[in-house]
Amino acid sequence: MSLDDNDEGDDETDEGIQPEQSAITGGETDGLDPDEAWMAETEDAVGVVDRFWRSHWNDHFTGAYQSPSVFGAYVAGTAEAPSCGGEPAAPQNAFYCPQGDFIAWDAALMRDGYAQGDSWVYLVVAHEWAHAVQRRVLGLRSVAAELQADCLAGATLFGSEDLVFEQGDGDELAQALAALADETPWTRSEDHGDAEQRTSAFSTGGSDGIGACLPD
Ligand SMILES: [Zn+2]
Repeated sequence: MSLDDNDEGDDETDEGIQPEQSAITGGETDGLDPDEAWMAETEDAVGVVDRFWRSHWNDHFTGAYQSPSVFGAYVAGTAEAPSCGGEPAAPQNAFYCPQGDFIAWDAALMRDGYAQGDSWVYLVVAHEWAHAVQRRVLGLRSVAAELQADCLAGATLFGSEDLVFEQGDGDELAQALAALADETPWTRSEDHGDAEQRTSAFSTGGSDGIGACLPD
């Protein structure tokens, strides 16, 4: 998966479409190699996903779109890692924190996933962003909500005007959802649905868009 660089220049001139710097913030990157490619790609993913929702918000929802805050990467167990509702951020997790309206991810989860293919970081960001969307418009959390977040993630990534899909990206994403099932908090099937359900939800959103993920 790659950014459509040709269009990026145009986007710059499109008022209001640019995310108001929801860039990954510093501080929590202590102990990480700042040159790691996954970090740059994650930053790209944040921009892509934010732009997608900003562009499409009013196709489906009323009111103004508001981006969640992006805490970005943390190293679990360190003092800099964020907590949410009094719970410290877990290793191998990525989450949306409704209390703080921010998203965050364990550096190791992203690095390990990215090693299997760059689609991983897009998937994680799009999924957690979808939880922020849910909170804004639906306010529910359950396995059904997790699958809806996967559906919205599919709608985001396949609907994004910024991304160019390469041969095999669809398979890579499906494998990412399947391969890590049950291994990490982020992919535990009791919370998120099993690999087949997740892949199916993601594909539905990917082929049919946001509307297909919303209740009738
Ligand atoms: Zn989730």
